[in-house]
Amino acid sequence: MSTLSLKPYSFARRLPAIAPMGAAQAAKKRQVIPLSFGSPHSDTFPYKPLIGAATDAIWTHGRDSLQYGGAGGPVIVLDWVARRSALRSIHVDPSQVLMTYGSQQALDYVARALLDPGDHAWLEGPTYFGAVSTFRTAEAILTSFPIDEDGLIVEEVERALEEAERLGKPLPKLFYTMPNFHNPGGISLSLERRQRLAELAYRYNFFILEDDAYTELSYTGQSLPAIYSFAPERTIYLSTFSKIIAPGIRLGWAIASQDTIARVNTFFQGSKASVFSQEIVAQLLTRLPFDEHLASLNKLYRDNRDAMVDALKISFGDDVTFSIPEGGFFVWLSFPEGIDTSEFVKDAEERGVSFIDGKQFFINGGGARHARLSFSYCSEEQIREGVALLAQSYYSYLDN
Ligand code: PMP
Repeated sequence: MSTLSLKPYSFARRLPAIAPMGAAQAAKKRQVIPLSFGSPHSDTFPYKPLIGAATDAIWTHGRDSLQYGGAGGPVIVLDWVARRSALRSIHVDPSQVLMTYGSQQALDYVARALLDPGDHAWLEGPTYFGAVSTFRTAEAILTSFPIDEDGLIVEEVERALEEAERLGKPLPKLFYTMPNFHNPGGISLSLERRQRLAELAYRYNFFILEDDAYTELSYTGQSLPAIYSFAPERTIYLSTFSKIIAPGIRLGWAIASQDTIARVNTFFQGSKASVFSQEIVAQLLTRLPFDEHLASLNKLYRDNRDAMVDALKISFGDDVTFSIPEGGFFVWLSFPEGIDTSEFVKDAEERGVSFIDGKQFFINGGGARHARLSFSYCSEEQIREGVALLAQSYYSYLDN
């Protein structure tokens, strides 16, 4: 250590305060059943094909796959993303696909490309907290809009836009939304609302940031056209390999018009997505029967979802309500008015189960009577046991 005296250093104003240990991390430490974890189930990772793919990536593309990403990644991956996106009515050239270090990096760069400090970003409440912290770091002013069983209530967004225009208030630069299997809401945006939001983006000149991380996890096999398909010049579409291969691969993507993708790309100097990860995924996609892989992971998640729904009915009867998710990882519980789920987070952990209280998903408080349970990471047995423990905790909170 230097003998010179250490002066206090002021870190950037925009840095969030250091968060207390999150519920998920605390759960990990205490060995409780982590219904708080929004992580994929590790049985869904294609281990063996990945070992072969990684070896082939090195043998076939050895030195190139270990280089900086300046020259761009393998075409196979871009083509695959473009072809797969067509299933959601996104018809793009592979040059409109930008590979990123997970969709979280895409969110970050898109936020920086679209927002100056003080700009307005609108989003859903509840919403994904990773996105909120990204927009806060970009020093955006945030406003949230409610969701129901058909997703974002677009009529409320329309009313707010009309009012802002009428009163000369600032309009949003972007609207962040998760149209499929919402985190944490579990619901999906209806077709009609997708079209309506797209129209509003043109009328009021904002970008829609369409976060479609869970899109492949549809238990019915159905998928609606992406919002992108209705507003290609005013949507940036994001998705990821995290839920369908493994988050450790750290590979996601952004899709936008040629013009927009070129603007976002300017942030990527020096930190392109890993070419090695892309070469591994390229090899994997040529050897993995993807539809079978998807069917098997969706079966695991559907069975887990059924176990959770079943356990909730057994333990809570009609005392909580929730929509049954048709895909994704999450059940969003609604307890009666007046309940504050944050008040039994600790007790539940002591009993052996973790969950995330509703307030964590809202930007300005609100959401107290809700809770997010994830059925992705645990086994069916853990899910049943965890839900029973949660019910014990809730009813003892009611009694006190
Ligand atoms: N968006 C949503 C809605 C998510 O839930 C997540 C991961 N939890 C991400 C983006 C980020 O995923 P990744 O960076 O692993 O692609």
